[in-house]
Amino acid sequence: NGFVELGLAPELIQAVADLGYTQPTAVQAKAIPLAMNKGTHATAFVDLMVSSQTGSGKTAAFLLPVLHTLLEQQAEADAEARAEYERAVAEAAANGEPAPKRNKRKDPTNPRNFKAATPGALILCPTRELAQQVAHDAIELVKHCRGLRVANVVGGIPYQLQIAKLQNANLVVATPGRLLDLQRSMQIKLDKVQFLVVDEADRMLDLGFSDDLAEVNQMTSQRQQTMMFSATFAPRIQQLAMRVMHDNGAGVK
Ligand code: AMP
Repeated sequence: NGFVELGLAPELIQAVADLGYTQPTAVQAKAIPLAMNKGTHATAFVDLMVSSQTGSGKTAAFLLPVLHTLLEQQAEADAEARAEYERAVAEAAANGEPAPKRNKRKDPTNPRNFKAATPGALILCPTRELAQQVAHDAIELVKHCRGLRVANVVGGIPYQLQIAKLQNANLVVATPGRLLDLQRSMQIKLDKVQFLVVDEADRMLDLGFSDDLAEVNQMTSQRQQTMMFSATFAPRIQQLAMRVMHDNGAGVK
């Protein structure tokens, strides 16, 4: 499988194999290694501006590297939590105390346990249909990733349903309007977002989301990486890129 050479996690390779993908498409072969910092020896993630049409495989080109990095970070956090627990067990044993219990995850359906969602990755799409398609693809790709959760945030779906799914989501695929609604009502906090993807940036501007994008840009200013995908790179898209990209981007064609 041609995805192995890209250095993706085995869980993701398995998922693409299940989908029947054998070779990365052109945009995937270029964008995935750059987005994952493979072979660049850079310590920081680079921002990417990618010119791509629907049908090019662009969705997996941004989902795979983002999911790969989320998996890596989750493995690190798990190892840390395990080490901390083992230290606590050893300390208790040394003091002749019973071993401490592992923290159980609280029941998220109990309103007393409510916590705003704090996703690590955010994908913005111009339309509800596209956001649903991207979320659908993401759910396929995470199916072997234990502990990675995807939520879809779009207008026209009852809030309660969306909010329940949003808790514990690592990756959120959203249209800007509903996302900002949920942010204002404090159901979601965006300050933990490390990876921001703007899909179909040209349509995003056509549909009047420029101010919403500026708002999300500010709310996620601590992020490590931004990727912008667009069918065209007219001057107004380049202006948007200059505002939201923290460096010049690798400019994948
Ligand atoms: P997209 O451009 O992301 O909308 O993808 C277009 C279609 O190509 C979707 O149906 C994907 O499931 C499919 N696809 C994406 N990557 C690959 C691949 N590497 N091999 C075969 N099909 C793919």
